[in-house]
Amino acid sequence: MAGIALITGGSRGIGAATARRCARAGWDLALNYVSDASAAHALADELRATGRRVITVQADVADAGQVAGMFERIDAELGPLTALVNNAGIVAPAARLAAMDIARWRRLFDVNVIGTLLCCQQAAWRMSIRHGGGGGAIVNLSSRAAEFGSAGIYVDYAATKGAIDTLTKGLARELIAEGIRVNGVRPGIIETDIHAGSGRDVGAPEIAASIPIQRLGRAEEVAEAIAWLLSDAASYTVGALLDVAGGR
Ligand code: NAP
Repeated sequence: MAGIALITGGSRGIGAATARRCARAGWDLALNYVSDASAAHALADELRATGRRVITVQADVADAGQVAGMFERIDAELGPLTALVNNAGIVAPAARLAAMDIARWRRLFDVNVIGTLLCCQQAAWRMSIRHGGGGGAIVNLSSRAAEFGSAGIYVDYAATKGAIDTLTKGLARELIAEGIRVNGVRPGIIETDIHAGSGRDVGAPEIAASIPIQRLGRAEEVAEAIAWLLSDAASYTVGALLDVAGGR
């Protein structure tokens, strides 16, 4: 049964495709973004025109105060949260370990891991039947990089996604008794703007040729998996890491 969902990084890429898919399934939505207000507002207008209630919330998921404020706004403007998609994430310029610095590691872990922890905590406080909530579902965006390790490209980013896999499995077991299903999705290489942050040309023919399905994925194809995991159709799916990667 659809309810009220927060999608972090819901303004662009996989988050925006997930917002469109969830709106079609009847979810009311909070779309979080950090800097691109115009993309978030345009998407919110588009989805409101389909009859859904949609708010946009600017917050850096790495900042505990901003995350707390985001959830308070959702409480006040939409009502009780029933789903969270931890989708906000960043990469860093492709590099070998020797050329990396601590500032980059801190930012990657702050956004990709601490951001997910902060949002899971806020959501659990609200959704857990132990705390008086009505239950719900969480989907965390990991990556196939968690398994491959992204040698020579960004082992630090891959390590953040390894942390997300472990967090997803642990939280799933911790929170299912409180009425919250936690699962993860591990995309392969998906056509979004994120790759500009690494400087990698993912459009190069050898990249597609390295994927068994012989092409990159589309954000909409990842959104389908996320929407299914959020839905009651996935009622017995707990702690799963669903690869959406064209066989990669
Ligand atoms: P994207 O197109 O770059 O979009 C990123 C989204 O996250 C944007 O909405 C951005 O907001 C938001 N964001 C970034 N930093 C944030 C922060 N500190 N606080 C709040 N929001 C923040 O990325 P994407 O490709 O859709 O990726 C989405 C997720 O899938 C990420 O977790 C990524 O690691 C994962 N993933 C992607 C791929 C891929 O090939 N694309 C593969 C595996 C996993 P603004 O619009 O305001 O900048």
